[in-house]
Amino acid sequence: MHSHSRRRFLHRIALGSQIVTTASPWLLSVQSGPARYDLLIRGGRLVDPSQRISGERDVAIQGRGVAQVGERIPASSARHVIDARGMIVTPGLIDIHVHVYDGVAPLGIPADPNCIAKGVTTVVDAGSSGAHTFPGLRKYVINAVDTRVYALLNISVVGQSTLSEDNPHGELLDLRYANPKLAIRTIEQNRDVILGIKIRLTRNIAGVHDLAALKLAREASDAVGLPLMVHIGGTASPVPAILAMLKKGDVITHSFRGSPGGILDGSGRILPEVRKAVEGGVHLDIGHGAGSFSFDTAEKAMRQELLPGTISSDVHQFNVNGPVFDLATTLSKFLQLGMTLEQVIERASTNAAATFGFPKGLGTLRAGAEADVAVWALDEGRFEFTDSLGSKRTGNRKLRPVATVKAGKLYGSASIPVVRV
Ligand SMILES: [Zn+2]
Repeated sequence: MHSHSRRRFLHRIALGSQIVTTASPWLLSVQSGPARYDLLIRGGRLVDPSQRISGERDVAIQGRGVAQVGERIPASSARHVIDARGMIVTPGLIDIHVHVYDGVAPLGIPADPNCIAKGVTTVVDAGSSGAHTFPGLRKYVINAVDTRVYALLNISVVGQSTLSEDNPHGELLDLRYANPKLAIRTIEQNRDVILGIKIRLTRNIAGVHDLAALKLAREASDAVGLPLMVHIGGTASPVPAILAMLKKGDVITHSFRGSPGGILDGSGRILPEVRKAVEGGVHLDIGHGAGSFSFDTAEKAMRQELLPGTISSDVHQFNVNGPVFDLATTLSKFLQLGMTLEQVIERASTNAAATFGFPKGLGTLRAGAEADVAVWALDEGRFEFTDSLGSKRTGNRKLRPVATVKAGKLYGSASIPVVRV
């Protein structure tokens, strides 16, 4: 015990030259004199599926990178220490389906309080913007927030239309809005942040010409060599016809939605075309959303040994106050469904990182990776979870975000908004 330096810091934490404010109740010991590391996260249970680690490990950070992961790294080796005993430590999570075009009413939510403040360091805005509206996403969100935001470009130039009783009209009802030429041009100009193309095919969004719209999205996707994310459910065309147009690396989101237009047939069996698509390298993503996750579908799929490839939240204005809340709650629902902690973390870290062309070093805590770390409490008790259809399940574990580190910089806990330096 390095009693000479152990002090309780409740208000201000100095990290190198950076000062952040936090109310998080962890012990920090500040080591005076030279130290090898800037920050050490010590004593937690590290779950890093990329290294097949699930056990007590310490994570040492130098600058913006992971310096070392190991057992019992001495506290004296670091200038600042987070005592993570009793907590879960994971790579900063990656949510590949969110809507953070804040200010584009009414769908978008602010990224930082909903993502980085809740253990999610990297997100993909899934098609909120199209070629005409992407520049604003880049200027006012991607370039401005602390959360690392990437985008899938909507094949519709106008981006995603928010559907409601007052506006039941989706962005592809007029097929002329599906514009591969403009999509390709926008992607070529923004390849550093656009990772693929998004298309929504529900009947009130794409009418009866869903396959024609998908063909145009396919054309753009093939031209730029980036994957498609396809939103299924309630489509005019059957799911097998949609799957037939997908390729290795493409993503189906809302894959555990209820019927109609889901992955199950009328008797609850997984469509053979779905298995074939997965075997061919199509990723099944969750994209919980306000209408797109069903416990019943999930239970049936998992009983038939079909697990999702990635677990994402599709968090936006109409579900952020329930039933989605955040990625942690979505992951906790899969704990309730019987997946292990390692399996759910894998689907929001390793698997998510492999889905799109992110820069190397995200979703992992290997030495040399970006120092994105999330610290969680795994609360035990009775927790009621609700799916998009209003069905409820009671679970006994729930992940609660405690702190986030992004590129070596410590952020506050979910109880306070993200703190800017
Ligand atoms: Zn969405």
